[in-house]
Amino acid sequence: MTINVLIVEDEPAIQELIAYTCRTSGFEVARASNVGEARKILEFKLPDLILLDWMLPDLSGLEWLRMLRRNEATRALPVIMLTARGQEDDKVAGLEAGADDYVVKPFSPRELVARIRAAIRRNSGEQELGDKIVCGNLTIDFDRFEAKVGEELLKLSVVEFKILSLFAKHPGRVYSRQQVIDKVWGYGACIDERTVDVHMLRLRKHLSGTSFEDFIETVRGLGYRAVEPFGSLK
Ligand code: CA
Repeated sequence: MTINVLIVEDEPAIQELIAYTCRTSGFEVARASNVGEARKILEFKLPDLILLDWMLPDLSGLEWLRMLRRNEATRALPVIMLTARGQEDDKVAGLEAGADDYVVKPFSPRELVARIRAAIRRNSGEQELGDKIVCGNLTIDFDRFEAKVGEELLKLSVVEFKILSLFAKHPGRVYSRQQVIDKVWGYGACIDERTVDVHMLRLRKHLSGTSFEDFIETVRGLGYRAVEPFGSLK
Protein backbone atom coordinates (compact mmCIF):
# COMPACT_ATOMS: atom_id res chain seq x y z
CA MET A 1 0.00 0.00 0.00
CA THR A 2 1.41 3.36 -0.99
CA ILE A 3 0.41 6.23 1.21
CA ASN A 4 -0.12 9.58 -0.52
CA VAL A 5 0.39 12.54 1.75
CA LEU A 6 -0.46 16.15 0.98
CA ILE A 7 1.68 18.59 2.95
CA VAL A 8 0.24 22.06 3.39
CA GLU A 9 2.93 24.18 5.03
CA ASP A 10 4.09 27.69 4.15
CA GLU A 11 7.52 27.66 5.76
CA PRO A 12 9.85 26.25 3.08
CA ALA A 13 12.37 24.70 5.46
CA ILE A 14 9.68 22.90 7.44
CA GLN A 15 7.86 21.82 4.29
CA GLU A 16 11.12 20.41 2.95
CA LEU A 17 11.88 18.58 6.19
CA ILE A 18 8.42 17.02 6.29
CA ALA A 19 8.58 16.05 2.62
CA TYR A 20 11.98 14.46 3.14
CA THR A 21 10.72 12.58 6.20
CA CYS A 22 7.68 11.31 4.31
CA ARG A 23 9.60 10.28 1.19
CA THR A 24 12.21 8.36 3.18
CA SER A 25 9.34 6.47 4.79
CA GLY A 26 8.08 5.43 1.38
CA PHE A 27 5.16 7.84 1.20
CA GLU A 28 4.30 9.72 -1.94
CA VAL A 29 4.24 13.43 -1.36
CA ALA A 30 2.38 16.41 -2.79
CA ARG A 31 3.19 19.86 -1.44
CA ALA A 32 1.32 23.12 -1.11
CA SER A 33 2.34 26.38 0.53
CA ASN A 34 -1.16 27.70 1.04
CA VAL A 35 -4.79 26.61 0.93
CA GLY A 36 -5.24 27.82 -2.65
CA GLU A 37 -2.51 25.49 -3.91
CA ALA A 38 -3.80 22.64 -1.78
CA ARG A 39 -7.28 23.01 -3.27
CA LYS A 40 -5.88 22.78 -6.78
CA ILE A 41 -4.07 19.58 -5.89
CA LEU A 42 -7.27 18.08 -4.43
CA GLU A 43 -9.08 18.73 -7.70
CA PHE A 44 -6.80 16.22 -9.37
CA LYS A 45 -6.30 13.64 -6.68
CA LEU A 46 -7.40 12.97 -3.14
CA PRO A 47 -4.46 12.06 -0.91
CA ASP A 48 -4.70 9.39 1.80
CA LEU A 49 -3.89 12.01 4.42
CA ILE A 50 -3.30 15.75 4.76
CA LEU A 51 -0.66 17.28 7.02
CA LEU A 52 -2.09 20.71 7.59
CA ASP A 53 -0.32 23.68 9.11
CA TRP A 54 -2.49 25.86 11.29
CA MET A 55 -1.07 29.27 10.29
CA LEU A 56 -1.19 29.70 6.52
CA PRO A 57 -1.04 32.93 4.53
CA ASP A 58 -4.38 32.80 2.72
CA LEU A 59 -6.72 30.95 5.06
CA SER A 60 -6.12 29.34 8.43
CA GLY A 61 -5.63 25.59 8.37
CA LEU A 62 -8.41 25.30 10.92
CA GLU A 63 -10.89 27.14 8.69
CA TRP A 64 -10.00 24.99 5.73
CA LEU A 65 -10.32 21.85 7.83
CA ARG A 66 -13.89 22.85 8.70
CA MET A 67 -14.63 23.24 5.00
CA LEU A 68 -13.11 19.86 4.22
CA ARG A 69 -15.37 18.28 6.83
CA ARG A 70 -18.44 19.84 5.25
CA ASN A 71 -17.55 18.49 1.82
CA GLU A 72 -18.88 15.06 0.92
CA ALA A 73 -15.67 14.02 -0.84
CA THR A 74 -13.30 15.01 1.94
CA ARG A 75 -15.23 14.73 5.15
CA ALA A 76 -13.62 11.45 6.20
CA LEU A 77 -10.16 12.25 4.84
CA PRO A 78 -7.57 11.90 7.63
CA VAL A 79 -6.06 15.25 8.59
CA ILE A 80 -3.23 15.81 11.04
CA MET A 81 -2.85 19.41 12.16
CA LEU A 82 0.69 20.76 12.41
CA THR A 83 1.24 23.71 14.61
CA ALA A 84 3.75 25.57 16.69
CA ARG A 85 1.08 26.21 19.22
CA GLY A 86 0.86 23.83 22.09
CA GLN A 87 -1.98 25.25 24.05
CA GLU A 88 -4.71 22.94 25.20
CA ASP A 89 -7.37 25.26 23.75
CA ASP A 90 -5.82 25.04 20.30
CA LYS A 91 -5.68 21.30 20.50
CA VAL A 92 -9.34 21.14 21.42
CA ALA A 93 -10.24 23.57 18.61
CA GLY A 94 -8.31 21.44 16.12
CA LEU A 95 -9.93 18.23 17.19
CA GLU A 96 -13.39 19.79 17.32
CA ALA A 97 -12.93 21.07 13.78
CA GLY A 98 -12.39 17.48 12.75
CA ALA A 99 -8.64 16.86 12.91
CA ASP A 100 -7.73 13.20 13.37
CA ASP A 101 -4.60 14.08 15.25
CA TYR A 102 -2.46 16.99 16.25
CA VAL A 103 1.32 17.36 16.12
CA VAL A 104 3.11 20.25 17.76
CA LYS A 105 6.21 21.68 16.08
CA PRO A 106 9.03 20.94 16.52
CA PHE A 107 8.30 17.22 16.22
CA SER A 108 10.55 14.27 15.63
CA PRO A 109 10.41 12.70 12.15
CA ARG A 110 9.81 9.29 13.71
CA GLU A 111 6.88 10.56 15.70
CA LEU A 112 5.34 12.21 12.66
CA VAL A 113 5.64 9.05 10.57
CA ALA A 114 4.16 6.96 13.37
CA ARG A 115 1.22 9.38 13.66
CA ILE A 116 0.64 9.29 9.90
CA ARG A 117 0.58 5.51 9.85
CA ALA A 118 -1.69 5.35 12.87
CA ALA A 119 -4.16 7.83 11.36
CA ILE A 120 -4.27 5.93 8.08
CA ARG A 121 -4.70 2.63 9.88
CA ARG A 122 -7.52 3.94 12.02
CA ASN A 123 -9.17 5.40 8.99
CA SER A 124 -8.85 2.47 6.64
CA GLY A 125 -9.77 -0.09 9.24
CA GLU A 126 -6.56 -1.94 8.50
CA GLN A 127 -4.87 -3.40 11.50
CA GLU A 128 -1.37 -4.41 12.40
CA LEU A 129 -0.77 -8.08 13.04
CA GLY A 130 -1.46 -8.92 16.63
CA ASP A 131 -4.04 -6.19 16.97
CA LYS A 132 -7.07 -6.99 19.04
CA ILE A 133 -9.98 -4.99 20.25
CA VAL A 134 -11.37 -6.05 23.59
CA CYS A 135 -14.51 -4.36 24.87
CA GLY A 136 -16.02 -6.06 27.84
CA ASN A 137 -16.41 -9.62 26.68
CA LEU A 138 -16.40 -8.72 23.01
CA THR A 139 -13.07 -9.63 21.43
CA ILE A 140 -12.11 -8.80 17.87
CA ASP A 141 -8.99 -10.59 16.71
CA PHE A 142 -7.49 -9.27 13.48
CA ASP A 143 -4.98 -12.10 13.07
CA ARG A 144 -7.75 -14.66 13.00
CA PHE A 145 -10.33 -12.30 11.57
CA GLU A 146 -12.63 -13.43 14.35
CA ALA A 147 -15.13 -11.72 16.60
CA LYS A 148 -16.38 -13.36 19.77
CA VAL A 149 -18.74 -12.50 22.56
CA GLY A 150 -17.43 -14.50 25.46
CA GLU A 151 -16.62 -17.84 23.89
CA GLU A 152 -19.29 -17.53 21.25
CA LEU A 153 -17.90 -16.99 17.77
CA LEU A 154 -19.89 -14.55 15.65
CA LYS A 155 -20.25 -15.78 12.10
CA LEU A 156 -19.81 -12.44 10.40
CA SER A 157 -19.24 -11.53 6.79
CA VAL A 158 -16.18 -9.41 6.03
CA VAL A 159 -18.36 -6.31 5.79
CA GLU A 160 -20.09 -7.06 9.08
CA PHE A 161 -16.72 -7.71 10.69
CA LYS A 162 -15.40 -4.38 9.45
CA ILE A 163 -18.47 -2.51 10.62
CA LEU A 164 -18.30 -4.08 14.07
CA SER A 165 -14.57 -3.27 14.29
CA LEU A 166 -15.16 0.33 13.28
CA PHE A 167 -17.73 0.90 15.99
CA ALA A 168 -15.89 -1.09 18.67
CA LYS A 169 -12.79 1.00 18.06
CA HIS A 170 -14.56 4.28 18.68
CA PRO A 171 -17.37 3.76 21.17
CA GLY A 172 -19.54 6.81 21.62
CA ARG A 173 -18.61 8.26 18.24
CA VAL A 174 -21.41 8.74 15.77
CA TYR A 175 -20.77 7.66 12.20
CA SER A 176 -23.02 8.77 9.40
CA ARG A 177 -23.92 6.15 6.80
CA GLN A 178 -21.59 7.86 4.35
CA GLN A 179 -18.72 7.67 6.82
CA VAL A 180 -19.39 3.96 7.32
CA ILE A 181 -19.24 3.54 3.54
CA ASP A 182 -15.94 5.44 3.33
CA LYS A 183 -14.36 3.44 6.09
CA VAL A 184 -15.69 0.00 5.30
CA TRP A 185 -15.84 0.02 1.49
CA GLY A 186 -13.32 2.82 0.88
CA TYR A 187 -13.49 6.32 -0.51
CA GLY A 188 -15.46 6.82 -3.63
CA ALA A 189 -17.20 3.44 -3.34
CA CYS A 190 -20.52 3.55 -5.12
CA ILE A 191 -22.65 2.18 -2.31
CA ASP A 192 -26.17 3.25 -1.49
CA GLU A 193 -26.64 4.43 2.09
CA ARG A 194 -29.48 1.94 2.52
CA THR A 195 -26.94 -0.83 2.00
CA VAL A 196 -25.38 0.22 5.29
CA ASP A 197 -28.72 -0.28 7.01
CA VAL A 198 -29.04 -3.75 5.51
CA HIS A 199 -25.61 -4.80 6.78
CA MET A 200 -26.29 -3.20 10.12
CA LEU A 201 -29.48 -5.22 10.41
CA ARG A 202 -27.58 -8.42 9.71
CA LEU A 203 -24.85 -7.50 12.17
CA ARG A 204 -27.47 -6.87 14.85
CA LYS A 205 -28.99 -10.28 14.13
CA HIS A 206 -25.62 -11.86 14.82
CA LEU A 207 -25.35 -9.92 18.06
CA SER A 208 -28.90 -10.59 19.19
CA GLY A 209 -29.16 -12.93 22.12
CA THR A 210 -25.69 -11.95 23.29
CA SER A 211 -24.87 -9.27 25.86
CA PHE A 212 -23.95 -7.02 22.90
CA GLU A 213 -27.32 -7.02 21.21
CA ASP A 214 -27.82 -3.32 21.95
CA PHE A 215 -24.19 -2.44 21.28
CA ILE A 216 -24.77 -0.37 18.17
CA GLU A 217 -27.61 2.09 18.39
CA THR A 218 -29.29 4.17 15.74
CA VAL A 219 -28.89 7.91 16.19
CA ARG A 220 -31.88 9.48 14.51
CA GLY A 221 -31.02 11.71 11.61
CA LEU A 222 -27.30 11.10 12.01
CA GLY A 223 -26.30 7.47 11.74
CA TYR A 224 -25.09 4.93 14.24
CA ARG A 225 -22.94 4.73 17.31
CA ALA A 226 -21.64 2.10 19.71
CA VAL A 227 -22.77 2.56 23.27
CA GLU A 228 -20.29 3.38 26.01
CA PRO A 229 -19.01 2.69 28.54
CA PHE A 230 -18.64 -1.02 28.11
CA GLY A 231 -18.85 -1.47 31.83
CA SER A 232 -22.54 -0.67 31.69
CA LEU A 233 -23.24 -3.64 29.44
CA LYS A 234 -24.68 -6.72 30.97
CA1 CA B 1 2.78 28.40 8.96
